Amino acid sequence: MRHGYLIDMDGVIYRGSEAIPGAADFISYLQDEDIPYLFLTNNSAYTPLDVVVKLRKFNIETSAEHVYTSAQATAEFVHRQKPDGTAFVIGEGGLLSALHETNYATSREKPDYVIVGEGRVLNFEMVEHAHRCIASGSHLISTNSDTWCPTDAGPRPGCGAIVALLEAASGRKAYHVGKPNPFMMRAARKRIGLSTEEVFMIGDTMETDIRGATDLGFQSILVLTGSTSREELRAYPFAPTRVVESIAELAPAALALG
Ligand SMILES: [Mg+2]
Repeated sequence: MRHGYLIDMDGVIYRGSEAIPGAADFISYLQDEDIPYLFLTNNSAYTPLDVVVKLRKFNIETSAEHVYTSAQATAEFVHRQKPDGTAFVIGEGGLLSALHETNYATSREKPDYVIVGEGRVLNFEMVEHAHRCIASGSHLISTNSDTWCPTDAGPRPGCGAIVALLEAASGRKAYHVGKPNPFMMRAARKRIGLSTEEVFMIGDTMETDIRGATDLGFQSILVLTGSTSREELRAYPFAPTRVVESIAELAPAALALG
């Protein structure tokens, strides 16, 4: 059967600065067999090229067309809604560059959108200005709803937590573009040129990867190397198509055995 993979990165390919064994083998197998794949990340801090360079550290050689970030999805979303608009951005280079590529300008004066992404640029002046923009009619968008991110030193607050602060202050609800939003999931499927039943999503997070795949009718593979343990699965009203200990089980040697 023709098929391809959407692959989450954190918790699947690496954890912090540690590679997950078997990940590099699985990606080379996909490349050797010409199986379509796309790294799909809710982290909007990096550009696709930044991701390519980061993956090199884990012995994975790929190119920018194989990476799709929530920053790109967010830029496409606002571009569709309001072409050539303006945004006040709380986010890092990946988000700013994706917006500029779709002809979006950053502005502090009556922006069409306040867009919040992943990153560590936040300060109170930014929150205050964003709050005032929203109060004067700017729409609140976030690249993703993840409330925390794992790092080598422990968890840190994620984009979803920053947005929650602005939601509480302004009384307005944000629109989250990243996984599991069907907007990003569908755009990713189109990028690998496959139909719904040909797509497998590999991820470690039930609320984003597996939920997004379920909503779209993709098959899903949960790896237990990240944020979800086998015991936690029972709490969800939806289940992945398959559960594996790690991506190593999907590498060619393991597939041959299986
Ligand atoms: Mg993950």
